[in-house]
Amino acid sequence: MDVENSSIVAGTWSGKLTPPERIPNRADIVIIGGGIVGVSTAWFLARQGVDVVLCEKGYIAGEQSGRNWGWIRAQGRDPRELPMVLESQRIFRDLETEIGESVGFSQGGCLYTARNEKQLDEFNDWLELARDHDIDTRVLDRNELSTLVSGAEADWCGAMYTASDGRAEPHKTAPAIARAAARSGATILTACAVRGIESSGGRVSSVVTEHGAIQTSVVLCAAGAWTSVFCRSLNIAVPQLKVRGTVARTAPADRIIDGSLFDERIGIRRREDGGYTVAHGSVLDHGITPATFRYAFKFLPALMQEIKVLRLRFGKDFFEELAMPHHWELDEESPFERQRVLNPEPSKRVLKGIRKNMNAVFPQLANVSIVEAWAGMVETSPDVVPMIGEVGDLSGFYIASGFSGHGFGIGPGAGKALAAMLTGADNPIDLSPFKLSRFFDGSPVRPMSTI
Ligand SMILES: Cc1cc2nc3c(=O)[nH]c(=O)nc-3n(C[C@H](O)[C@H](O)[C@H](O)COP(=O)(O)OP(=O)(O)OC[C@H]3O[C@@H](n4cnc5c(N)ncnc54)[C@H](O)[C@@H]3O)c2cc1C
Repeated sequence: MDVENSSIVAGTWSGKLTPPERIPNRADIVIIGGGIVGVSTAWFLARQGVDVVLCEKGYIAGEQSGRNWGWIRAQGRDPRELPMVLESQRIFRDLETEIGESVGFSQGGCLYTARNEKQLDEFNDWLELARDHDIDTRVLDRNELSTLVSGAEADWCGAMYTASDGRAEPHKTAPAIARAAARSGATILTACAVRGIESSGGRVSSVVTEHGAIQTSVVLCAAGAWTSVFCRSLNIAVPQLKVRGTVARTAPADRIIDGSLFDERIGIRRREDGGYTVAHGSVLDHGITPATFRYAFKFLPALMQEIKVLRLRFGKDFFEELAMPHHWELDEESPFERQRVLNPEPSKRVLKGIRKNMNAVFPQLANVSIVEAWAGMVETSPDVVPMIGEVGDLSGFYIASGFSGHGFGIGPGAGKALAAMLTGADNPIDLSPFKLSRFFDGSPVRPMSTI
């Protein structure tokens, strides 16, 4: 493997972490988690003059939000997510002007290729949804596809294509939004783990961080892969599982596509720097943990749907989760300080597969070096769409999590809707399909897109 040691992406979660010199005594709203969802919410709140504090245990975008493929797509989504992702795409289109920084956004389009008529027919089913939501998705034949993709060696008979879908650089986006939020008045704290919540009379009264308490009556837990652990400490069950995604980045190379392309061998996106972010098209690594058994029944439909690409492992992940305490004292070190950054190792086997598949599908990239590789833990809910809303018996405690493998593109739209939810303003987005209670009230669990 020719992975060189460049760290443009990994720079997001390395470097010196300086704890805050002081933390505010109080805030209108406290957000737990500095991923795309947390920072976008903070940005929208601060712009409305809300006194908001965001606490991130490690780095802004240090986990999923800095490690993802960078696809901003409406194509192929669960219909419940469409209003929010369309709003998100509108926000992305103006984002660089609004925040005055580049995040590498462009509308390069999104392609899902098909190898046979059956796959093409499935794409045709989605077109109806696209029409209902005014999305410009089309099904292309082989000839039309060849005008968009240069030099592919593949037996594709067509593709689903959405020209308006976009891409951006994840390592830039959430940090840039966090800076914009700070300029609008939000307090953004890194190296500041939240250990727990204190309450009074059934209502949130403060958030306890490793550096002291912040009085507040409203908390948003946007803690990504940690939401389940955090909520369990409050006796709130949040069904959540994780899969590891291994990702690579190439050196700048000739143009093969402008946006992103998915084939069962490869997921590839053009980068702002002229290289490609590349992943395996058909591997989902799941390390079995106690949560796999605890939530097996709820996750069965999602796991069955992914059965062909799922690689189950039993080992370290199981024992690490088993050893994690369920409860702790708020004046003691918590699991969130013990693991500042969830930083899984990229799989060597998957990296080999990425190189092999990239050379096979795009021979003109065969001599292009892979200059960086990393992995991220995708957290998912049983029906692969987010869990949003006030939860548990504690008034003022909200979650926004379970965005699965598609939360980057929807993140700014989610932030706008969450800001409205937290302030009780009219919400342009109906958040009722995302209630956590859907997993506990006997509703059927129906994933309508992939993890
Ligand atoms: C390999 C990979 C590829 C993906 N590809 C895409 C893609 O192309 N397009 C797309 O739309 N989505 C993609 N996703 C999914 C997307 O990255 C996520 O859905 C999204 O980033 C989730 O954002 P978040 O803010 O909810 O969570 P995160 O980004 O995980 O942020 C949560 C933050 O909370 C912090 N935290 C947790 N607990 C505490 C605590 N107690 N105190 C303080 N801080 C805490 C964590 O440190 C973390 O930084 C991909 C994900 C991965 C891993």
